[in-house]
Amino acid sequence: MKIDELKKALTDLAGDAAAEIIVEDAPMAEYTSFRAGGKARLMVSPRDAEQLKDMLRVLSESGCRYMIFGNGSNILVKDSGYDGVMVRIGKGLDNIRREGENLICGSGALMSAVARAALEESLTGFEFASGIPGSIGGAVFMNAGAYGGELRDILAGARLISKDGKNERYVTGRELDMGYRHTILHETGDVVVEAELKLRKGDQKEIKEEMSQLMKRRNSKQPVNFPSAGSFFKRPEGYFAGKLIQDAGLKGLVVGGAQVSELHSGFIINKGGATASDILQLAEIIQARVYDESGVRLEMEVRIIG
Ligand SMILES: Cc1cc2nc3c(=O)[nH]c(=O)nc-3n(C[C@H](O)[C@H](O)[C@H](O)COP(=O)(O)OP(=O)(O)OC[C@H]3O[C@@H](n4cnc5c(N)ncnc54)[C@H](O)[C@@H]3O)c2cc1C
Repeated sequence: MKIDELKKALTDLAGDAAAEIIVEDAPMAEYTSFRAGGKARLMVSPRDAEQLKDMLRVLSESGCRYMIFGNGSNILVKDSGYDGVMVRIGKGLDNIRREGENLICGSGALMSAVARAALEESLTGFEFASGIPGSIGGAVFMNAGAYGGELRDILAGARLISKDGKNERYVTGRELDMGYRHTILHETGDVVVEAELKLRKGDQKEIKEEMSQLMKRRNSKQPVNFPSAGSFFKRPEGYFAGKLIQDAGLKGLVVGGAQVSELHSGFIINKGGATASDILQLAEIIQARVYDESGVRLEMEVRIIG
């Protein structure tokens, strides 16, 4: 199917909301935390799980390329763009409700919103994740983690839709085989529609204090005032990427508008006007120099699209 025909089929599914839900030549810099990168041929933002399923069915039958994203805090779209459809999981799929001591979160719910809900309900266990940017769906996919915790510690299970939109199932956290910044979803391509977090009754004051302490730590150690996608590289076993980069003398190194953060060498920041290619060139220089200096191969955590 040609992209124009696909657009028509998606427009039919979107009905009255089509103008809001479907964006042609979507500037992905506006939808990603790096504030850099090219355009996607189409971007669609389904408003509920049924519409998502219908759209996935149409997309899989079209033969066009497509991929899911959430808040765009761990992806970078190449300057040449993505010749396919980016499916954005956000508004409409972001409902959060309580069941017993668990929170059931629509995958488009932002981590900050989940943190607020946990605090309001006096549920403890989510504090470590409260400052991680992004959606809960992206966090499940990445097994996001911080301050000694990972999503797998609190994920009771998730409702998934297959990438072709034809099947829906509930899996336990264990079935997702969650490891360091990896889950089985990287291979299956299944889409998270809901995540069930297993929390416990806690003391609201203590939860608030812990969240605010961790946020202070984050704000003082990370270059939060510049666009980035967080730590650019995965932590190599036995090392810290930031320390390897700093020891290789790369702190502050600039390519175009991209820079190795002066505050945290594990971050590549967009100092202003960076292109995706500035960022990728800088990443390659870092990989080569760190390898020369230490023999360690740094692997990108940020997912490169296009
Ligand atoms: C300043 C900053 C600090 C950060 N700190 C941390 C940190 O402490 N710890 C950490 O782990 N990460 C951190 N990150 C990275 C990022 O926040 C996480 O990886 C986050 O979980 C990504 O969520 P997202 O919704 O933005 O995902 P996106 O960037 O939109 O997508 C990331 C991947 O997840 C997939 N995906 C997204 N939604 C779904 C879904 N519903 N179903 C299936 N697949 C999906 C996408 O296909 C893509 O491959 C940081 C980023 C920034 C900018």
